[in-house]
Amino acid sequence: MKERFLLVRPYYGVNIHTDAQGEFGTVLHSRDVFPDLPLINAATILNDSDDYSAVLLDAYVEGKILPDDLLQKISSVKFDKLIIKTAAATIKSDLELARMIKDSIPGSYVMLAGQAVRTLKSWICKNTRVDEVIDEPLDKYIYRYVNGREGTINDMPVPDYSLVDYKSYRDDNDKIRLTVLASRSCPLNCAYCPYIQYYNAYESRDVDKVMEDIRSLVALGVDIIQFRDQFFTCDKERIMDLCRRIISEGIKISWICETELSSLDEELIDLMKEAGLFLVCFDIKSGNKEILGKYKSNIVDKAGQKKTVDMIRSKGVKTMAFYTIGFPEDTWITLYETFKLAEYMDSDIVAFNEFTDFHLDGMEDMTPDVFCSFQNAGNSCMKMNLTHDEIRYAIELFSMKYTESHDSVEKAFAYNYTITMDNKNVISKIAECECDLMELSNRVRRIRGLE
Ligand code: SF4
Repeated sequence: MKERFLLVRPYYGVNIHTDAQGEFGTVLHSRDVFPDLPLINAATILNDSDDYSAVLLDAYVEGKILPDDLLQKISSVKFDKLIIKTAAATIKSDLELARMIKDSIPGSYVMLAGQAVRTLKSWICKNTRVDEVIDEPLDKYIYRYVNGREGTINDMPVPDYSLVDYKSYRDDNDKIRLTVLASRSCPLNCAYCPYIQYYNAYESRDVDKVMEDIRSLVALGVDIIQFRDQFFTCDKERIMDLCRRIISEGIKISWICETELSSLDEELIDLMKEAGLFLVCFDIKSGNKEILGKYKSNIVDKAGQKKTVDMIRSKGVKTMAFYTIGFPEDTWITLYETFKLAEYMDSDIVAFNEFTDFHLDGMEDMTPDVFCSFQNAGNSCMKMNLTHDEIRYAIELFSMKYTESHDSVEKAFAYNYTITMDNKNVISKIAECECDLMELSNRVRRIRGLE
């Protein structure tokens, strides 16, 4: 008799990219729906084995079902163990969902995964009836559980996206976008990096296996592949090899990667473009020298970065730069320096992201209050120059100004204002019922006009 697992990713009315930020998750102010790759890998490992089976219930692709309907679905599945994939921004609702499952299905074995529960493990064990807290990446845990030994990134399976309605993982342009991992973690050592504290040492997947991943996604009819590596071009020769293989096999696919700008040169970009690269994302962080010195380990001069951005754009590859707004040391002056740097870099797309203090290890008496519900912010005791409201105002202002100057006022309104306001509206109405999931479900339906 196989041991049956039910893997659940809940949805509470707010769009969250749950495997971002080292699986703390990020609240998205866009309509993109990202898969959670470690969750899909875990389900694949279980189903590939003789002794286990898994059902994957991703509320995002089941029509964004809300907690009350999700509970009904869960009740209709026979399982021995259930795992909820949590996120920092929804941890209180995730804990409440776990409680409701324990109440409604007597004797159920409920486990939690995700980096937020790693940091809250001792509080959860003392204060809830959750049976097990998985304090490492879920796919690594499941690999060991099934095989009785540690698994490397090369032991991970080709993710079986057919376990879910993968065609619902779509980007803002309604293209099917699926993710792949060609490497994990990062050899750079920036302070406060949530990836390196969760994934530990950098590891890369054999090019043969990455090719298998790519072929399987192409066979599914994917429009875009997004490499979720933190530092995709860490090893230039390896990526050149991968690109040559894609080209020589005649695979026609559009893909995106995230990497360090300083690792890119013309030879590499030419080959990556020929292999299908259309968007490269990179982290610039801050326009202030002192802040950069504290938070970024690999500092490159602005002129050099600008030259690389221009080179990439001249090749017809789009560029997306990330900037962090609201470091504890940030003031209005340093924020403005960051905005001016973004204008100078002139990437095609920008993301101004709120700084989150996810460096919580060692903090005493940590409770779920350390995370702000439905926000990309922490509540640690870190001393900040600016308030969360001031930081969010700056993010909205910069996003709108940038879009307006690069596109149009209409686009700034449609993209930065309308979607953000819609999210804010939902968040303000559900924040107070994060632990009353029936009321939360009703409110989201009312706001979305679904009843
Ligand atoms: S570049 Fe720095 S912040 Fe980015 S993944 Fe590497 S260590 Fe983390």
